[in-house]
Amino acid sequence: MRILLTNDDGIYAKGLQTLLEHIKPLGDVFVVAPERERSASGHGITVHKPLRANEVRPMQYAVSGTPADCVKLALEALLPEKPDLIISGINLGANLGTDVLYSGTVSAAIEGIMAGIPALAVSLVSYDENSDFSTAASITTDLCRALAHRQFPRETLLNVNVPQGSLEDIKGVRVTTLGIRRYKNSVEERKDPRGKSYYWLGGQVENIASREDSDLVAVSDNYVSITPVHFDLTNYRILEQIRNWNLDTLLK
Ligand code: MN
Repeated sequence: MRILLTNDDGIYAKGLQTLLEHIKPLGDVFVVAPERERSASGHGITVHKPLRANEVRPMQYAVSGTPADCVKLALEALLPEKPDLIISGINLGANLGTDVLYSGTVSAAIEGIMAGIPALAVSLVSYDENSDFSTAASITTDLCRALAHRQFPRETLLNVNVPQGSLEDIKGVRVTTLGIRRYKNSVEERKDPRGKSYYWLGGQVENIASREDSDLVAVSDNYVSITPVHFDLTNYRILEQIRNWNLDTLLK
């Protein structure tokens, strides 16, 4: 199996390097990842300046762009052949619910499925820099082995969030839906030394688990959450309603 590994925490991040050690036995593993952290960069791509890719170790490239840039470069310039699977992660920090829309980790996986390649986005539910990624890495490796015997759905990625702790602490695996995450007081205004205002985005997370089977509920119950995600943002449920607005009359 040929695997492409990427992330948004940067090529030297512990999550990516730990996963690399675990999945090496599965086949040829290439790493194409940002040269520095690009968390919360969403699906941005670099079109106004050149991109550089440095082979920092054999089969490992550090790219001067975003996670989506890395996948584009890997598929179209750096890898000798298309990979069978793309894994983005393991991210330090959860990628749950509506946060996937900001996530560089998930966007790299979306770039993969847009090119027709199966992809996983994997995140550890922890914000501690010293977190141990080995449990999440071994679960991801087992998942790759399990997927090899299954028909991977087209144009769909699996968004995987692994709770912190040892294998014994984790209760099991749930297939979930994306919940809703909002942030309270998300803009903090501060003053610079010259008395001018500047702003810092953040805030306290407010989980809105509209459904019992959401990813937010699964990880808070200490389960690994696996959500099938696709990039079609069309709201099919209300398509007919909008069509009945007869907007075609605007141009008559
Ligand atoms: Mn990140």
